[in-house]
Amino acid sequence: MTEARILIVDDDVALLDALPRALRLRLDGVEIDTVDNAGDALKQIILTDYDAIVSDIKMPGMDGLGVLSEIRKLRPKTPTLLITGHGEHDLAVQALRGGAYDFVQKPIDRDYFVASLERAIEMRKLERQVEDQRHALERHARVLAHVDNGVVLVDDGSVVRYWNPAAEAITGLPAHEVIDKAVGAILSGWNTVTELVPVSEVPGPEGAAAKTLPLELDGKELWLSISGVRFGDGVVYAFRDVTEERALDELKGEFVATISHELRTPLAAIYGSAQTLQRRDLKLDEGTRERLLEVIAAESERLTRIAGDILLANSLDSGRLRLESGHVELAALAKDVVDEMREAFAEREDIMITLEPVNGGGTEVSADPDKLRQVLINLIDNAVKYSPEGGRVQVEVEPRDSGIRVVVRDEGIGIPGSEQQRIFGKFYRIDPQLSRGVGGTGLGLYICRELVRRMQGRISVESREGTGSTFCIDLPVAPVSASQRQTAVSEPA
Ligand code: ADP
Repeated sequence: MTEARILIVDDDVALLDALPRALRLRLDGVEIDTVDNAGDALKQIILTDYDAIVSDIKMPGMDGLGVLSEIRKLRPKTPTLLITGHGEHDLAVQALRGGAYDFVQKPIDRDYFVASLERAIEMRKLERQVEDQRHALERHARVLAHVDNGVVLVDDGSVVRYWNPAAEAITGLPAHEVIDKAVGAILSGWNTVTELVPVSEVPGPEGAAAKTLPLELDGKELWLSISGVRFGDGVVYAFRDVTEERALDELKGEFVATISHELRTPLAAIYGSAQTLQRRDLKLDEGTRERLLEVIAAESERLTRIAGDILLANSLDSGRLRLESGHVELAALAKDVVDEMREAFAEREDIMITLEPVNGGGTEVSADPDKLRQVLINLIDNAVKYSPEGGRVQVEVEPRDSGIRVVVRDEGIGIPGSEQQRIFGKFYRIDPQLSRGVGGTGLGLYICRELVRRMQGRISVESREGTGSTFCIDLPVAPVSASQRQTAVSEPA
C-alpha cells in the first residue's frame, strides 16, 4: 500500500483511538487524521483532499448521514465509509443511497473494514490518475491548438483523426469538415504529397528533415514544409505554410537572372569598346575612338542607373528612404523632364515627345521634387522603350478637382489587361516575347508606385495591347500653409 491520507470521524473516543492503531498495523504508509465531531470533520475536509473518509453514522449534532451529504457537496469524489450499529440495515441502505462508498457494521470486522478501505483508497487513486491524465490531455490539446504549425493525425486507414486550428488556418478547411473523413477525399493531392514525406519513428532532430511540397487547394497552390512522425496506429504530420517564402525565393531567382542579364549587356559593350581602344594593331580614326568612348560613357551610365535602381528599391523596402516634402510646380517640372528626355532620345527619330499645354489653373503639388522627376523620367523612358515602332509620347499636366494629374501616353506595344496590375510589382517584367525583347530590370514601375505612394499620390494605367498605354499619376495639391516646409515623410506601414 502506498501513501494515502484518511480521516476518521467518531464521537466514540475509544474507537477513535483503536481504529487508527489497527489500520496502521495493516496499511503501510497511511496517514490518519481523527476528529470526534461533524463540525471539525467538515473543517478538515475543506482543508484536505482525503483519499477516503470513515464516519460513524450516529453522532450528536450532525450525524454521519449529514456529514456524508456535506462531503458529497465539498468533495464529491472522496469515497466515504460509514460505520453503522449492529442490525441497522435501513440506515446502511440510506447511507448507500446517499452516496456512501460502503458501510461497516459494529462490531467492526477489521479484515472487512481494512479491505473495503483499501479498495476505496485504490479507487480514489485511480480516479486521481484518470483526472491527471485528462488534465494532461486537455493541456496537450490546448497546446496543439496554440502552435502555429498545422498538426494532423491520419490513422492507418487514411482517415483524419486530428486537425488543429493552425491546419484550419493554413488550408482554410475547418476541422468539422475534415475529421473522420478520408484524407484523400478532402485534399486530393495529399496522397501524392505523403508518398514523398519522410515519416520518422521519433520526433526531433533525429527524425527525417521536413520536405517542401506543393499541395493544390481550391485551385490555389499551397507550398508546405511537412514532416511526419509515426504515432501508434497512424502518422502525425506537422506542416508550415511556406508559400510566401517560396514566392520570395522565386523572386530572388528572377532577380538574379534579370539583373545578371541586364548587367551583361552594358558590360559586354564597355568591355568590347575598351578592348578595341586598347588594340595597337588597329589604327582607329578620331571619329571611331569618339564613338567607342561614347559607348563606354553611355553604358557606364546605364550600369550606374541599374545599381541606383537596386539600391533605391532596397531602401524603399526597408523603409529607410526619406522623402522631402516640398512644393513642386508640376507643369514646369514636366517641361524640364520632357526637354531632357527629348535630348536623351535624340537618336530615336521615330519618336516624338510632346508636352500638351495646361488647361486651367495652377499645377503646384506637394511632393519631393527629385523623386517626382525620377518618376516622370521612368514613365517617359518606358513609353519610348516600349514603342519600338515609334510614335508619339504625349505628356499632359491636368488640374483636377481632387488634385493634379500628370499623364504619360504612348502609342507603343501596350500591356495585356491581365498584366496591368502586376507590372507595378517588384522585378515584374512581362514575358519578353510580349514586350518584344526590350531589356529592363522590372524595378522601374515598382519604384514609381512606391515613390508616388509616399507622396500621398496614386499611379494607374490604362492600356490596350498593340494600341498604346496611358500612365496617370494623381498628386495632392500643395497646401498653402505647408509652404517651404521641409519635413521628412516617413514610409507608410
Ligand atoms: P522594366 O525595367 O522591365 O521596364 P518596369 O517596372 O519599368 O520594368 O516595367 C515593368 C514591365 O511593364 C515592363 O517589363 C514592360 O513589360 C511593361 N511596361 C512598362 N511600361 C510600359 C509601356 N509604356 N508600354 C508597354 N509595356 C510597358
